[in-house]
Amino acid sequence: MMATTTTRDITALRERVKAAIAAEREHIIEVSETIRQNPELGFEEFMASTLLADHLREAGYEVEKPYGGLETAFRATRKGSGAGPTVAVLAEYDALKGIGHGCGHNLIAGSGLAAAIGIGAVIDELDGTFVIIGTPAEEGGGGKIILNEQGAFKDVDAALMIHHAGNQTGAPVTWPDGTCLAVADIDFEFFGKPAHAAADPYNGVNALNAVIKLFTGIDALRQHIHMDARIHGIITHGGDAANVVPKYASATFFVRAASRAYLDELVAKVSDVARGAALMTGCELKMTQGPTCFDMRPSYILGAAYLENMRDVGLDISNRREGRGMHSTDFGNVSYVVPAVTGSFAISHDPIPGHSQQVVDASGSEYGYDQFIKVSTAMALTALDILTSPEMVDAAWKEHAAWSERYER
Ligand SMILES: [Zn+2]
Repeated sequence: MMATTTTRDITALRERVKAAIAAEREHIIEVSETIRQNPELGFEEFMASTLLADHLREAGYEVEKPYGGLETAFRATRKGSGAGPTVAVLAEYDALKGIGHGCGHNLIAGSGLAAAIGIGAVIDELDGTFVIIGTPAEEGGGGKIILNEQGAFKDVDAALMIHHAGNQTGAPVTWPDGTCLAVADIDFEFFGKPAHAAADPYNGVNALNAVIKLFTGIDALRQHIHMDARIHGIITHGGDAANVVPKYASATFFVRAASRAYLDELVAKVSDVARGAALMTGCELKMTQGPTCFDMRPSYILGAAYLENMRDVGLDISNRREGRGMHSTDFGNVSYVVPAVTGSFAISHDPIPGHSQQVVDASGSEYGYDQFIKVSTAMALTALDILTSPEMVDAAWKEHAAWSERYER
């Protein structure tokens, strides 16, 4: 049976989505707080993924876990009364090494439950499918990249997320808002030859020197790269003793650029610098490149609906993030295959640094939780908009297909 939804019905449906989330407010916050207080690193989010899966089952969802070959991933599904679009909310829950939930992913986790409860209240009267996909290891490991390769988004028509943005709130409506940087991470290992650093240094091949040349070479390169590119690294091994010529040294770099094409160009240049450093010092070089996070291609069609819903739930959107974000996310890869958008929300009244203790604190604060419930409600209402508007789905796919010709230069 095809359900036809009138404007009047939609107003009533919206109220029920809001009421369902409001009724479970404390319960949803408690889940986020439990995750905040028990941070788990990427691919090790056993507690968080199990906690969410259990609550989603309780909310009437059918849960597949493990999912896509990942122990801490899941897919929770509820089908409506007829055929229609599939809307997915992506829930992250990994923490940062040494900091805990310094990126507020405990709130992203909770937003999955909130949206599930909201849409769960009305899904039986809608056409289409609503899914929550639990996506591990955003902070390194690229959980969504793996899930994408496993076909997790093949049947999805729209992917939605929330993410804190310090003291800013909004959803992207015009290019380049909501875009970010593609990133490649590369491990460089240099292999030399040990020797006594004073007695017979002439017999040694110094791997640390190669790492230092790699850094100075990249420093020289940095002057000649695009303004919106970033190259940054750390030394992961610099030798074992000052009186021994280091036989092994290593570094890890992140290379970031606004487009995948320019990222490839930069990775080639950085690799040349590494080869030069090996040649200069007589070391052997091994380079290992991890999975690439693509730059984000936000759907401005979905973003416009999201922003409208943010206004509707009473979020203050006067301080919006504009332009390209200088961060990266594996959600970018998802945005290349389906219309996707993130709603950004403030967890603090003042600016705070990303990946910090301030974020850990703010994402557990009264203001942070209040904002989180509001933005999760706005996201659920956006899912409702999509599920009740085939025209919006159509427009979002058309925009998606035209992305390159519209925005890439
Ligand atoms: Zn994050």
